[in-house]
Amino acid sequence: MNLAELDIVTAAEGLRKGDHTAVDLLEASLARANHTEAELHCYLHIDHDGARAAAEEADRELAAGNDRGPLHGIPLAVKDNMNIDGLETTCASQILTGWVAPYDAHVVGLLKEAGAVLTGKTNLDEFAMGSSTENSAFGPTRNPWDTDKVPGGSSGGSAASVSVGSSFGAFGSDTGGSIRQPAALCGVVGLKPTYGTVSRRGLVAFASSLDQIGPLARTVEDARILLEATWGHDPGDATSWRGDFPDISSPTVALDGLRIGVISQLSGEAFEPGVTDAVSAMINRLSDEGASLEEISIPAIDAALPAYYLVAPSEASGNLARFDGVRYGLREDGATSERMMSATRASGFGPEVIRRILLGTFALSAGYHDAFYGQAQRVRTHLANEMTRVYQDFDVLVSPTTPTTAFGIGSKTDDPLAMYFSDVATAPSNLTGHPAVSVPIAVDDAGLPVGFQIHAPAFGEARMLAVAAEVERLADFDARPALAGSPV
Ligand code: GLN
Repeated sequence: MNLAELDIVTAAEGLRKGDHTAVDLLEASLARANHTEAELHCYLHIDHDGARAAAEEADRELAAGNDRGPLHGIPLAVKDNMNIDGLETTCASQILTGWVAPYDAHVVGLLKEAGAVLTGKTNLDEFAMGSSTENSAFGPTRNPWDTDKVPGGSSGGSAASVSVGSSFGAFGSDTGGSIRQPAALCGVVGLKPTYGTVSRRGLVAFASSLDQIGPLARTVEDARILLEATWGHDPGDATSWRGDFPDISSPTVALDGLRIGVISQLSGEAFEPGVTDAVSAMINRLSDEGASLEEISIPAIDAALPAYYLVAPSEASGNLARFDGVRYGLREDGATSERMMSATRASGFGPEVIRRILLGTFALSAGYHDAFYGQAQRVRTHLANEMTRVYQDFDVLVSPTTPTTAFGIGSKTDDPLAMYFSDVATAPSNLTGHPAVSVPIAVDDAGLPVGFQIHAPAFGEARMLAVAAEVERLADFDARPALAGSPV
């Protein structure tokens, strides 16, 4: 197997055994990027010099016996809505043109301390708004399994890069599904942890009560390692959890007797047969292993997507007010400061971002505030209460991650509602703040990957990861994307 396709655990073992160096791992990732970027466009920026210097330093430290742990010398990519000191943060938007981050995001700082080698910044839907990575101002990312298809979004660059081997793991942000949905469409693991467990300092805010950073990886164990290295309290993020964190160092679970709820709202005709067939097959396998699987109806889930598409744009309209031509990046000329600001925003933001700002300001406007935003918040509370009740009877819940496998480039760009439906199975856990993970389990008849989602209550990551590892074992999914079969 090519070095670029090793999982993090195996790559790390090889480093310690002297089978390869950190520079070798980086060169393998960069060679893979070199071979695939023209077609896939996973990265907005590859930091060749910074990554080489970091890999050489990692090798020197390891040789000197200064071992920083499981991520030391491992090439990782970061979604381009998180700051890396000295590099541009673009959020795939024209409005940030030329803006160079003056500090590391908290997560990036932790990764550097862990000795990771940061390869660069990955492509996304502008300001993380989208489900296909087609809303990038710099052009879409393509799916390595079929380059006529989208990789999902908004962390499509991160997911495609991990899938094809131009990074060993990556970080994304998930506001309504943007880690799990592209992970499912690209055949990798994507995990959204409990709200508040991974600091968002240095992540450009989209919808602050929903945004959460998390890992994308080729295995559940790799995702666990990436999460363990990056979560914890950060005084620099006012929403950062101050209490105890679960121990996820070696999660295990007995499937025998485990109470698994199958969410009935997340099945049926709105879901492609290729997706539901694969998910049902996994449910049967879990049941064969002794788990007790029961269908559970959670009616509030039906209202989750509409609520999400009121809460997220409302918060976005406030968060994006700071891009005004004064503080960051782009500035267009205007006779007055107000005209300068409107001209800057009109030319700097793409159509989806403008749609969200309009939707959000409308939902928050006097006279409509309670009917839209207020109602959405009530749905959110209702959903959280329903989930609390459901978790009295179930250890974890399961569902598909997405209603479809990867869809055609351009096939949903003219139909925002069809695009928004991609988040139907992922947005509920953003509204509740609960963790969820997508694990690849199969390919459909068209050879496209299907993701299986495991939902857990807040701080239930240990059990969720243990179940995810069992699902991974039972699925025995080892298909590779077409593009990764290249000799490079
Ligand atoms: N697709 C959803 C949206 O467009 C979620 C995006 C995200 O999680 N960042 O809002």
